[in-house]
Amino acid sequence: MEIDKIKEELSSVSTKEINYSELAEILKRKKAEAVKLSDEPLAKEIWILEQVCKIQQRYLEAFNKIKQRDFYNAWCLLEKAEIGLLFLKKHFSINENPYQLKFINDVIRKYQSIYPYRLFFSTELIEKEKECSICGKVYKLRDSCGHITGEIYNGELCLWKVTKSELVGVAVVENPVHKYAVAFLKSGEGEGVEDNYDYSSLEYLMKLINQPFDTWDIDFVVKYVSHNLFKTYSPDETCPCNQTDKTYSECCLKEKGVKSLFHEFVVEKPSKEIILPNSIAIKLSK
Ligand SMILES: [Zn+2]
Ligand SMILES: [Zn+2]
Repeated sequence: MEIDKIKEELSSVSTKEINYSELAEILKRKKAEAVKLSDEPLAKEIWILEQVCKIQQRYLEAFNKIKQRDFYNAWCLLEKAEIGLLFLKKHFSINENPYQLKFINDVIRKYQSIYPYRLFFSTELIEKEKECSICGKVYKLRDSCGHITGEIYNGELCLWKVTKSELVGVAVVENPVHKYAVAFLKSGEGEGVEDNYDYSSLEYLMKLINQPFDTWDIDFVVKYVSHNLFKTYSPDETCPCNQTDKTYSECCLKEKGVKSLFHEFVVEKPSKEIILPNSIAIKLSK
């Protein structure tokens, strides 16, 4: 298969199934040939296509996992796709949405915004020794190998590989560098971890969309929920809207209802199984 044919294949990701393992094999072979001929630009072009394959594949896998309610693993795959995009953007513009990359980039943000995860563990490491992933030379301040992190050499991405490090601590943070370390509760018995997060917003969204490249959007809107649902709250208690330190009587009791934040999904092609208007709203789990 020629490079142009591969590009064509990757461009049609939203309409047909792609055999990624076959493509990976072909690209690997072509890259080895390019390196042998010292064709640096071609090797780099092939690296770009390899990244595109990985990003598409991870996104598609994440979408399937969300559908199967395997939410945490889907989250990690979205994170991997996001990191892949970050490296790729230095060398390739995704703005024209070739290979659906702009779509994937934007939709990852949207999924992340409706995931219930808010707290993460962040490990603080002191790097003691690192080496260049291209030539393997150990980093020294005054004696650099000349390779630049994030650049492509012979069709490979240059990164620092940390070979020795010391863990100095673990912090709980809201916006971590890496989003894998979600804070889960430990279950009462044994070693198991419990997933107590409320994924109802994601589940609801998944009922509305069928295909990974269906267009949808999300809005956060404030709506008023009837006071009847908050009868157990006394007027002197903290307001059930959770947005203030004021008491119920000082805050929402003066309004037509209790202020609640809703996810509002706007779906282009709602699933046929359920009849719904194009714009629907559900409660955001706090
Ligand atoms: Zn190097
Ligand atoms: Zn209130």
